[in-house]
Amino acid sequence: MNDLDLRELYQEVIISHNKNPHNKSNLSHHTHDADGYNPLCGDKVHIYLKLNDDETIEDISFEGEGCAISVASASMMTKALKGKSIATAKRFLNTFQNACTETTPPSFDDETEFSAVDLDELSILSSVRNYPMRVKCATLAWHTLDSALPK
Ligand code: ZN
Repeated sequence: MNDLDLRELYQEVIISHNKNPHNKSNLSHHTHDADGYNPLCGDKVHIYLKLNDDETIEDISFEGEGCAISVASASMMTKALKGKSIATAKRFLNTFQNACTETTPPSFDDETEFSAVDLDELSILSSVRNYPMRVKCATLAWHTLDSALPK
């Protein structure tokens, strides 16, 4: 994929998730939650989790205001992690954050628990590493999820 194609694809995916975000609501029956703030851009996010006794994310949602990248990232994250185990979520959030920051990003090829569509979109979002000013926008929801999850 050349740079121009990637840029167009990137904008398309971000715009679509920002316009119609998944899981953007208050989860009244949540068991865990956390607040996140990115002062560089002014993005604010609140993550809600309902964890069940099997250590699974039974439900996950977010609320907040911010730039298109921060909203799109929270939308993709909640969509991908709903129904996953806490262990999977913790492992994948590290992989995703590394994908957003490392010059040699980790491959998502071994992530068999996730749908191909979710992985494609997250892979496109992680190309934010080419725009260093926006990395904190893309990783805000993930840092906030990390704070919300039990240690
Ligand atoms: Zn932002």
